[in-house]
Amino acid sequence: MMHLFEIRCRDPHTRARCGVLKTPHGDIHTPSFVAVGTQATVKAVGPDDLNKIGIQVLIANTYHLHLRPGEDVIAQLGGLHRFMGWDGPIMTDSGGFQAFSLGAAIEHGVGKIASIFPDEVEAAERGGHLRKARQGQSLVKITEEGIEFRSHLDGSPHKFTPENTIDIQRKLGADIIFVLDECTSPLHDYEYTKRAMERTHRWAVRALEYFKRPSPPAPLPFVETGEGWPQGRGEGQALFGIVQGGAYKDLREQSAKFISALDFDGFGIGGSVGRSKEDLYRVLDWTIPLLPEEKPRHLLGIGEIEDIFHAVARGVDLFDCVAPTRMARNGALWVKDAQDFRVNITNSMYKRDPRPIAPDCECYTCQNFSRAYLHHLFIAKEILAMRLATIHNLYFLESLMREIRRAIQESALIELAAMWGITLGKPS
Ligand SMILES: [Zn+2]
Repeated sequence: MMHLFEIRCRDPHTRARCGVLKTPHGDIHTPSFVAVGTQATVKAVGPDDLNKIGIQVLIANTYHLHLRPGEDVIAQLGGLHRFMGWDGPIMTDSGGFQAFSLGAAIEHGVGKIASIFPDEVEAAERGGHLRKARQGQSLVKITEEGIEFRSHLDGSPHKFTPENTIDIQRKLGADIIFVLDECTSPLHDYEYTKRAMERTHRWAVRALEYFKRPSPPAPLPFVETGEGWPQGRGEGQALFGIVQGGAYKDLREQSAKFISALDFDGFGIGGSVGRSKEDLYRVLDWTIPLLPEEKPRHLLGIGEIEDIFHAVARGVDLFDCVAPTRMARNGALWVKDAQDFRVNITNSMYKRDPRPIAPDCECYTCQNFSRAYLHHLFIAKEILAMRLATIHNLYFLESLMREIRRAIQESALIELAAMWGITLGKPS
């Protein structure tokens, strides 16, 4: 039998590896960035742009798509791939994170949570339902059965369970789906984090059992079985478990052992990874050595360039992150030779700058437009600014990932990181 994930090479000086993850909609070469397409679109760019940039895989959001337009609408229109006109690999998360972050915003105060989950709080504020919640009408309740929550759009009641989030994600039809988990924040204490982790483990067992039943309740007409895809499982979908445990060593270890003993196709590393970069790296050091070597690992929601190097060096294969697209829309354009790897194009120093954003960049934006033009579009608030900036940032990140994969093949990840001013230690 062929494997879903094949490791092709390893960097002998770190835990980094290169591999190929096979899906019914094509191969993903890892380590890979996963572009965030929350609402079944990568904000400001279309699938033609994404193909030209070399984006390999997208992650859409179950919470948002369940609320609008609804999984039944998407299933009737042929599933996510056809709906959004993207025929490459797609992942969907389980929605637990959004249900949680909206709930946490109420429990701990929006101000504190906004710095941890800015997108979710922004969405909730737009929906106007945080105001109601502040007046005592809770948006979220977590029970053994699942997560009860109210829509941030219209306040309507909904429930996510380990079973129905599988059903919803089957209807959406992504190639890789995630189990429902309860995500804790750095504001939760040890006892609560432990209880939430144990509940997440019970949910993982339920989700996997439900997923493996021979005839899913909503068989999809459009899913082909790709070469090497495991037969008879989830109608061509792969299911990833999620390791939780907050920033606590013993909990992370317990969770990694428990979740990796279950027959998932891959593993997400989720939840609060602490308050600092060092906390994140420690969580990866505790977790990854306990995960099965032969299965893919997805770090949920990171994305500064320094973090990418450190995560890949610790054995992360996939990561998703809103940073390149969100920062692009704010005029923060990624370049190699600048403070924090970015220039703020709205700065008046670019008003007459004839150069492209980055001198060596081969993206559509840098090949055709000057910094002065980008500066003008941002100042004039023209919508083309968002598209051109997003194309550049995504291309920049994909180029970096290609460099990283090549460096791993040449056993030279530490040297590549050093060229970016980043020091990678040997694994502990
Ligand atoms: Zn560019």
